[in-house]
Amino acid sequence: MRDTNLLQLALGLTPPWMVTRSDFDPDAKRLDIEIDFAPGSRFVCPNCGAADCPAYDTERTSWRHLNFFQHQAYINARVPRVRCDECGIRKAHVPWARPESGFTLLFEALLMTMVAAMPVRTVARMVGEHDTRLWRMVHHYVAQARARSDASEVTKVAIDETAARRGQDYITLFVDIDQARVLFTTEGKDADTVAAFAEDMAAHGGDVEAVSEVCIDMSPAFIKGVAEHLPNAAITFDKFHAVKIVNDAVDQVRRAEQKGQSLLRGTRYIWLRNPQTLSERQQATLDALPTRHLKTARAYQIRLAFQDLYDQPSAEAGAGFLKKWYFWATHSRLTPMIEAARTVKRHWDGILRWFDSRIANGLIEGINSLVQAAKAKARGYRSTRNLKAIVYLIAGKLDLELPA
Ligand SMILES: [Zn+2]
Repeated sequence: MRDTNLLQLALGLTPPWMVTRSDFDPDAKRLDIEIDFAPGSRFVCPNCGAADCPAYDTERTSWRHLNFFQHQAYINARVPRVRCDECGIRKAHVPWARPESGFTLLFEALLMTMVAAMPVRTVARMVGEHDTRLWRMVHHYVAQARARSDASEVTKVAIDETAARRGQDYITLFVDIDQARVLFTTEGKDADTVAAFAEDMAAHGGDVEAVSEVCIDMSPAFIKGVAEHLPNAAITFDKFHAVKIVNDAVDQVRRAEQKGQSLLRGTRYIWLRNPQTLSERQQATLDALPTRHLKTARAYQIRLAFQDLYDQPSAEAGAGFLKKWYFWATHSRLTPMIEAARTVKRHWDGILRWFDSRIANGLIEGINSLVQAAKAKARGYRSTRNLKAIVYLIAGKLDLELPA
């Protein structure tokens, strides 16, 4: 078998396309495969699909293909512009690459698999291409797959924001809770993000009125956005954020007390953790402290009790428990704890809603860790647009429809 026939088989070429030559240059570490079509071949019009269009003229084009061992491989061909009776002169499509791409479909499939697993910058370096070319390809596949994504079954949504570049910019994520996927992400963290989500959801066959449960933190912007754009959604305040508010209050008590109480130096992380997770050394430090006389220790007990809310067996038990907790916290004479309790009071129903919605923290944390991974992979991403594309790629459960 001649090597051109072998290449033809390997590339899956069918008539009128055939391999006419291959040039291997070991010094340049490069393999060039020449493809051509038989004289007199007819083509499909790329615009209307009419078959049997003759070639009008040709344009020489090159595509990067999968490496041949350690050598870069390129496909070169003259691509016909075809004459269609309806559409005039049009550049024909070739079966091995999508229009306007300088990569073959198989090379793109490999690159997309790589960028889902490692930073785009790293992939660019590994394959010896500039990363802007890779980003252009990522945006193409993500946009195509996003256009096909279906939001018609969505009824439960978690909303969370995350810092983009060094905390200067934010993106907000909208997660489909049932399918554990990022449905939508957009710049900012204000109420308008919810408006943008509602619009996007409608554009993907979703019904904003069918959204019955939403999980958010206590940000007034999200509360307002949900009220305006997801009219039938009951709000659950995310358990993690609720606990964090009480935990932050403990830290404030500790900082104030530490000024007059040197024993507390270096204990910050003890109070931020749960007793079960303390290291032996931290436990020993805690045991040696005169906890009965420390405000910080009292504040810490109030926080631990708040967490016990989520172990109550029912919504009724939870409501009763929270009332008692509120009384205790507001009578603690610890200003940060009183303020945290008042914040809890203002968000009472949404905190207790957890007993009905049971929106699992694990899911949101799982998505968050995917987003953290996306940030790492988008390192050097230069724009929030790039970050959003990687978030979709990694956490969007998109069907990219890559060639196999
Ligand atoms: Zn046509």
